[in-house]
Formats: sequence, structure tokens, C-alpha cells
Amino acid sequence: MENIKTVFANANILDGSGAAPYIGSVIVEGNAIKKIIKGPTDKAVPGATMIDSHSKTLMPGMCDAHLHLTWNDQPTLEHITMMPPEEHLIHSINVARKVLDAGFTSGVGAAAARPRFDCILRNAINNGDIVGPRYLANGQEICTMGGLGDTSPVHMDVQDLSFGWRVSGPEEMRKSVRMFIKYGVDAIKLNLSGEEITPVAAQTTPMSDEEVAMAMETIQPYGLRACAHARSADSIKQCLRHGVEVIYHASYADEECLDLLEQQKDQIFVGPGLAWLVQTAYGASDWGIPPESELAQAYARELEAAIEAMKKMHKRGIRIVPGGDYGFAWTPHGTNAKDLEYFVDLLGMTPMEAIVSTTKLGGEIMRRPGDLGLIKEGYLADILLVNGDPLSDIKVLQDHTSLEIIMKDGHLHKNTP
Ligand SMILES: [Zn+2]
Repeated sequence: MENIKTVFANANILDGSGAAPYIGSVIVEGNAIKKIIKGPTDKAVPGATMIDSHSKTLMPGMCDAHLHLTWNDQPTLEHITMMPPEEHLIHSINVARKVLDAGFTSGVGAAAARPRFDCILRNAINNGDIVGPRYLANGQEICTMGGLGDTSPVHMDVQDLSFGWRVSGPEEMRKSVRMFIKYGVDAIKLNLSGEEITPVAAQTTPMSDEEVAMAMETIQPYGLRACAHARSADSIKQCLRHGVEVIYHASYADEECLDLLEQQKDQIFVGPGLAWLVQTAYGASDWGIPPESELAQAYARELEAAIEAMKKMHKRGIRIVPGGDYGFAWTPHGTNAKDLEYFVDLLGMTPMEAIVSTTKLGGEIMRRPGDLGLIKEGYLADILLVNGDPLSDIKVLQDHTSLEIIMKDGHLHKNTP
């Protein structure tokens, strides 16, 4: 990489570690943070582009821990599946840019709508062919025949019409996981519980222990990670029995779950996906789901359970990460920073804790705790310059015009003069 130098001078530095902000200047060289000068300075750095950052907040780029670049802002899983692949690819490329435009410089793929899409998107981003966040690619959600994700009509039972990748039995699981490994995934996703908006309810746990064990045994030699859709208590326990690292939703965690989660808190992450619950319960009237409908009320009940569970997890020091399952009609891509507002307003986190969940913990869930997610010398230059103070108003991170500069890997993706 060419050695371009950029200096953010006299910024209010919110370094992402949870430490109090301080005034200082950040010197970026190539793709990394070369040096941080604490205190105010008026010295120019020779050969560098100087950015006057006075009275602005400089913080690490954010990480969405539950990203679906291939969800296409449609109301149902069936709608997502039925978009023709050509249009779908273009749409997904645009989503990748949208996520970066929203200040999210990294993201964890939480399943793709087609088998290879996530992998080719990640590769294209890494090659510089398209613009998007650092991305960990996933496969399709692996589901049981008839479980959440199996959208194939009963009278024409074919994989191509199914949103999820369907398996029955350990051998099919082994073969499917190996297929995704061949495609180059960074993780596999298992659908261990149901979901209210589908025929399989949230507290149903359809996958067998033999199937989960086989998935884990198959990824183990490759050092890959498993993540899971797990709303029911039984599915959360299944994750914890088998070493699933990223547990999505976890709404119905009971006391036994909480104890087990706490025991494994340094190994696991919990991503509640709050935006999906909030918006399906209260913001989906335009799509035929008014708050008084039975479906919306089921989501409202789940939201209440999730809030209680997350508050308890937060008290126990379990890592809770943002990512609201964006990419459905009523949770559009680009609104990803709403999760941080929910963390503060619904879970009672301080704005600082919410920011740490998307910066420091972002680096951890991206598997780069040593060089990603903090404003620190030697760390990768994923940087936001925000016209505003997210510690006094976390919502400022949702306002894209306030995100004046978005830098990823030392490259100025957005630079508002
Ligand atoms: Zn999801």
C-alpha cells in the first residue's frame, strides 16, 4: 500500500476501549494508526493531509455483528429467495456500500440468501473490486427439513426454492457443511430454533444434537466458527453444549442458560438482534402487521423477554453485540446504528458501553482483537470523524450527515469538507 499520511488534528478521541475521551491528534500512515499525539497541537506534519478535527469526535469504525448483505429489504424470506440471482447480486453489492456509508467498517455475516454470495462479496471487497466493510462470510442458514428457513413449497420440494439450506440427519449435515467450507466461508450458521413470523414458533428447537455435533466436528479441523439462530432456552443450551461461538437472539434465556453463558463468557458472543423485534412488534403496520395483530404481539412479548434476558447478561459481563437483522422491509439496511440506541434505551447500557459493544467488541468478534476496533497506535485505520458527541446523544451515529469522515483501512471512503 502506498504510504499516504493523514493527520486528524485536535480531535476529541473516543478510543473505543471505554476510557474517557481526550483531545489529541491521530496520524495515519498506510492502513494503520502510526502515532497518537495527546493534547492540543498546532504543528503540521510534513507530507501529510491535515484534517482539522477540532470539536469533533474521532472514534473507531463500527462493527455490525449480525449482517446480511444479501437480504434485500423485502418483507418475507420467500420474497428474498425469489429475487433473480442477477438482480440479487447487484442489490447485495449496493448493500455493502450502504453499510459502509452508515459508518460500519466491519461486519460479521450472519448467513447469506444464496450459497456462495457472502464469499464472493467478501472476496470482491478484499480485492477492491467493490466497496464495503471488512466482512466475515457465512453460508446459507442450515436448517432442518421443515424448520425455520425451509421455504420450499410442500408440493414442489426443491432446495432452489428454499431460503435456508436444508438437512436431515448427520450425514447430510456433514456434506452440507463441507460444501460451504469448499466455498470459503468464515463461519457456518445453524438454525436451532424457530421464529414467530414463520410456521415454526420461536420456542421450538427442531435440530437434533447429533446434527449439531456433526456440524461442529466438520468445521473443527478448519478452525471455523459456528453461529446460531437460537431464540428458545433449549436452543441456547444446545449452543453452549456444542461450542457455538456466536449466539443470535437468545431471547428466552432462562436461569440455567444465564449460568452457562456466564461460564463461557470469554468464548461466546450474544447478538440479540433488537431492531427486528422492535420493528416487527411496533413498526410494521405498512406491511400488514399492525401492533394489535397477533403476530406483532408475539414479537412484543418476545421483545420483553429479550430485554430482561439481555439486562441480566449485561450484569454478568456477557459480551452483547449489536446487529439488528437489518435487510427486511421494516428494518432497512443503513439504519444499523439504531441498535446502539436500543442498547441504551432498552437495555440500560451507558452510551459508552454501547460504543464499546460496536468498537472494542467489534474487533473481538471480527477475530482481530489485537489490531481492530480501537484508536490505538499500531491498530488498523478504521476511523469515524463525527460532528457531534455520541456520549451525550447516541443517536448522532444514525445521522449519516454527522459522519463527516469514514476511513477504512487507511482509505478515505467518505470525506465531507
Ligand atoms: Zn439474521
